[in-house]
Order: sequence, then structure tokens, then C-alpha cells
Amino acid sequence: ASARSEYVKRLPASKAQHELASKFLPGGNTRSVLFNEPFPVVMREGRGNRLWDIDEHEYLDLVGELTAGLYGHSNPILKETVVSTLENTGISLGATTKGESRLAELLCQRFPSVERVRFCNSGTEANLYALSIAKHVTGKKKAIVFNGGYHGGLLSFGHGVSEINVDKNDWVLGTFNDVEGTKSLIEDTPDVAAVLVEAMQGAGGCLPATVGFLQTIQATAEKCGVVFILDEVMTSRLHPHGLQGKFNLRPGLTTFGKYIGGGMSFGGFGGRADLLASCDPRQPSSLVHSGTFNNNTLSMNCGFVGLSQIYTPEAATELNSLGDYFRERLQEVAKGSQMVVTGVGAVLTVHFQTNGAVPVCVEDLEAHSNAPLKRLFWFWCLSKGFWITERGMVSIILGTTKDELDSFVEVVCLFLKNYSHLV
Ligand code: PLP
Repeated sequence: ASARSEYVKRLPASKAQHELASKFLPGGNTRSVLFNEPFPVVMREGRGNRLWDIDEHEYLDLVGELTAGLYGHSNPILKETVVSTLENTGISLGATTKGESRLAELLCQRFPSVERVRFCNSGTEANLYALSIAKHVTGKKKAIVFNGGYHGGLLSFGHGVSEINVDKNDWVLGTFNDVEGTKSLIEDTPDVAAVLVEAMQGAGGCLPATVGFLQTIQATAEKCGVVFILDEVMTSRLHPHGLQGKFNLRPGLTTFGKYIGGGMSFGGFGGRADLLASCDPRQPSSLVHSGTFNNNTLSMNCGFVGLSQIYTPEAATELNSLGDYFRERLQEVAKGSQMVVTGVGAVLTVHFQTNGAVPVCVEDLEAHSNAPLKRLFWFWCLSKGFWITERGMVSIILGTTKDELDSFVEVVCLFLKNYSHLV
């Protein structure tokens, strides 16, 4: 209670802005995931990996726009790309451009299973299209998904999600990382078109899939004529060739989003040429894949420049090594407490679990989660100038230094010491 009243005292301008916004926006915002009780912090500005709220506090940005903000705020190379696109090209030409083909070529080179790719505007859309392709090609209707899986605002499963977020009829819910159960589910469920899975459940708590789990899905799906869809919307940045490269996987379809548009809105779905042929307008009964902004020049050009000039395979290796170092340091200082850190490379979540054990699926997480302690930790981080999500998720922005991450570890140590009677 006292941390909460500190929060309210610290943020009078955010409180006032929230009250004003609530007159026009339900809950005062337009992204439920960014809502916090009693009101969200309202940010004024971001530069590089720093943020300032409207009460003039500065933060190290460890949210990194939930992985989409990889390049930081107003990266100079991307800023230049935006300006030159506006000056030389225009935003949306209502026609095919060269920009979409060069970004597509780059994605096909970068991600091993991607032979053809198409673009849309969000990860949610990318997953919806991938599911449509699978249903179109197999002539079947159901999709296997996993408890705790997040594939978009309208594609979230379990984890206290309300029924309005999913169409219940088409889904079969499995348990993440349950190898044998999932194998049986694919083999024994009739009418299954696809398995849709994240290589690491991101919103579900940065819970990595085991290689065995993903390999079993791949092999069983192939045997049963089911399309294996790997959602790499969050995870494609965690290795030079995505987690499919790291785990040596060949999904039939992969979905992309977030940072790949270089900070502009983006979605993409790609994979085997025979599956993507469903979207080829030359095919007699092709799926109509349209979308006004699918090939907007800002997303196409910033995406291309981001991947070719900034987030090169070498940069991906370096950032994720830094993330591994950071996660290991956090794990080290958390030993013997309720704090547990999960993740891969530069994307991770700090949990507080009453049993102090590493969760491998959302059922584990929920059974032992210490929600009040997690919330106290969030208030603590904010008051010390570190912007993380209330659920404890961190995604590291390019250019963040080891010293900056070490300073966060110090703040975590202070928290554990200050609240040693609780943790
Ligand atoms: N898939 C995963 C794994 C995600 O984490 C997200 C967003 O967080 C999405 C899909 C949806 O992407 P978007 O928010 O662009 O619709």
C-alpha cells in the first residue's frame, strides 16, 4: 500500500492525464497490455534507450516496446530512412514497389525455412493468415495452440484471458512443453489443420520451449499432414537466424512482426513455397491476401535498412550474448529467494515464485506466482529509474551497455536486501 501511494504521489501529471483520457478512451488508453492500476505512467519522450514521463522522471527503457523497440527511439539511420522515403518515394503508392521485394529477399536469406513471404501490418494478422493458409491447404478446421500462448490480441489462450479474445470452436488447447501430451493431441485429434506455437512463450512469461518439444511437434505434424506454424513474432531477434535457426527447425510456416519493420508497424508470414502458393493470385482458388498498408514504403524501407545495416547477424549474436550475461547475473543474485529469471538472449522475465522454482509452463507459473511481490518489485524499479513491465518482462534495446545492465542488477540486489523479510 505504501509503494502504491508513493507511486500516486510521484506521478500527478500522469494521474491527471489518465483522468482526461478516460473521458474518451475506455480505461484511458488504447492498449490493454499497457494499463496499470491505479493509472499508467504517461511517457512524454524517448531517445535511444531512455524515456521521460510527463512528470519529468527519466528511465532506462528496459521494456523496449515489448521487443519491437529493438532499435531504440529515433535511431539515426532509421530516422534518415524515414526522411529519405518521404522525400523520394512517398508513403503508400497504391501499387507494387521494389521495396517489398528486397525486404522479402532479405527475410528469405535470413530465416532458413522461409522460401516465400508476404507482408501485413501486425503479428496478429500474420498468425491469422498463417492459420488460413493451413486450413486452406489441408481442408481441415482446427488448430492446436497452447495454454499461455499469445499470438495477438484476438489470439490469446488461457492465462486468465476472457472468452471474447478467441473464437472457441476452432481451437484445441495443449500444455506447453508437454512432449507426450502434445504428440497424442496431434495424432488423435480429428480435423487438425495446424499447430501454432511460440518458440518461447513471450507474453506468457518468457518461458522457452525445449528443443525436444518443438522437434516432436515438427515430426508429428509432418507425419500427420498438419502444418507446423512457428510464431517468431518475438523470437526471431534472439539468434541471427531466429530460434528456428538456433534449434535447427523447419516449420512449414513462420510468422513475424515487431522489430522487423524497423519500428514501423509490421507483420509477415512466410515458409514453404508450396504453402505460400495459396496466396499467389495466379492460382485459381487462391486466398485473397490484401491490406492497404501491407507494402507501405516506410515499413518496407525501414525493415530493410534495419536488418541489413543495423541488426546484422553479428549484431544479433552480440546483443543476445549481452542478454545471456545479464540473465545469468540476475539469476546469480536471486539464488535462494523467490525471484526467478527466465528467457533467451536479450528477452527475459523476472518472476517471483513462492516455491523459488523455474516455471516451464504457465500452469507452473500461475500455481506459485507471488503477484503482490511482483508488483512491489515493479514499483521499486520505477522509483529507481528503470522502466520494466509490471509482469516483469525486459527486452534489451540495441546500444544498451553492460554498465547500464549492471546498474539494474544493483537495484535488484537492493530490493532483495530491503525486502529480505518478504522474498
Ligand atoms: N505473436 C507473439 C508471439 C507476440 O508476442 C505478439 C505480440 O506481442 C503477437 C503475435 C501479436 O503481434 P501484434 O501486436 O503486432 O499484433
